[in-house]
Amino acid sequence: MPDALLLSLLVAAVAIGWWLGRRERHGTSDPAQPATLTRDYFVGLNYLLNEQPDRAIEAFVAALEVNSDTIDTHITLGNLFRTRGEADRAVKIHQNLLARPTLTTGQSEQVQLELSRDFLKLGLLDRAERLLQQLVRESSHDPTRHTAKQLLVELFDREGEWQAALDVAHPTLVRQHDEIRRAAAHWLCELAAQARQTASPGVARKQLRQALSIDPKCVRANLSLAALAMDTARYREAIRVLMRIPDQDLDFVPTMLEPLQHAHRLLDDDAGLATCLEQLLARAAFTSLVILLAETRRRQEGVQAAIDLVTEQLDRTPSLGGLDYLLDLYYQQQQSSGEPDSRIRLLKQHTHALLQARPRHRCQRCGLTGEPLHWQCPRCRSWGTTRPITGIEGE
Ligand SMILES: [Zn+2]
Repeated sequence: MPDALLLSLLVAAVAIGWWLGRRERHGTSDPAQPATLTRDYFVGLNYLLNEQPDRAIEAFVAALEVNSDTIDTHITLGNLFRTRGEADRAVKIHQNLLARPTLTTGQSEQVQLELSRDFLKLGLLDRAERLLQQLVRESSHDPTRHTAKQLLVELFDREGEWQAALDVAHPTLVRQHDEIRRAAAHWLCELAAQARQTASPGVARKQLRQALSIDPKCVRANLSLAALAMDTARYREAIRVLMRIPDQDLDFVPTMLEPLQHAHRLLDDDAGLATCLEQLLARAAFTSLVILLAETRRRQEGVQAAIDLVTEQLDRTPSLGGLDYLLDLYYQQQQSSGEPDSRIRLLKQHTHALLQARPRHRCQRCGLTGEPLHWQCPRCRSWGTTRPITGIEGE
């Protein structure tokens, strides 16, 4: 038997034993059945000691009769198994509860919520959805309906049904929960991406504007609006949209540089690119930004101008990426003068290896790091929590 399960069952056994003992002391036990209750409890312990967890659970559930005093203990027992990764056992306990005709409406709804959480955990999404839809429709208790809606939103998010998630969450949940507000803006970005693929730019634009009205900090919405403008060769408009991103979230400047450079290249406007980059540099000295600006200087004024810019920035903000690029520039300079220094190549190999080993993005919620920027974290499934890494080894 896994250690976690053994521990859960022992905890449950102690809790039930304590409850039975207290019940006996207070004389609330049904005088007709005290021996049966105690016998079920010891039978459960016996199964537990013989490593038969399924039969132990059945015996414990039988020992603990369902009434208004014990319903919470039953629910907790089920939840305990769910959090321990034993959701199938939680289903058994919660379904057993739900079958009792003595439950009040409130208690029955509470058990249905827990049961839908068990189904979600087990990936039985259809069964969870049926229960939750029914609770949303029929419950007259506001907090129950609210929780059922939150779980439905989680379910639709998992299924990639963005419009359904939005229909449930908007406007109440979006207004009340920061996390759902952030997610809602991303659902609209997902819908806009689908509309863009099916050649409906008008629909996509409308959805992206709605995303921005829900979450004005949604960087992805502006990146997508810029991409839409690029589709129809409106490069100046794309640049204007991209230049709003630093006001939304300064840390995402490195993410906007590639499309910004692309739009200027299509306009054949190197000077315009340099002006934009200088404006950005005045706000924050990201490594990729310094390198991109240095490259435009190198094209316009030569290698020495690029070296001057990178050296000045490295004096202010140390950066491994900046140092790596500076070594490139030194090597180019020496090559053109006909005296290449092999020591620079050696240093470059080391900085390059160090840069290869570092991740570029990190989820602020679960800490997952990696090279690509995920709008939804693949580990913790939260939206908009993965961000560029800053600092000496990052941006
Ligand atoms: Zn995460």
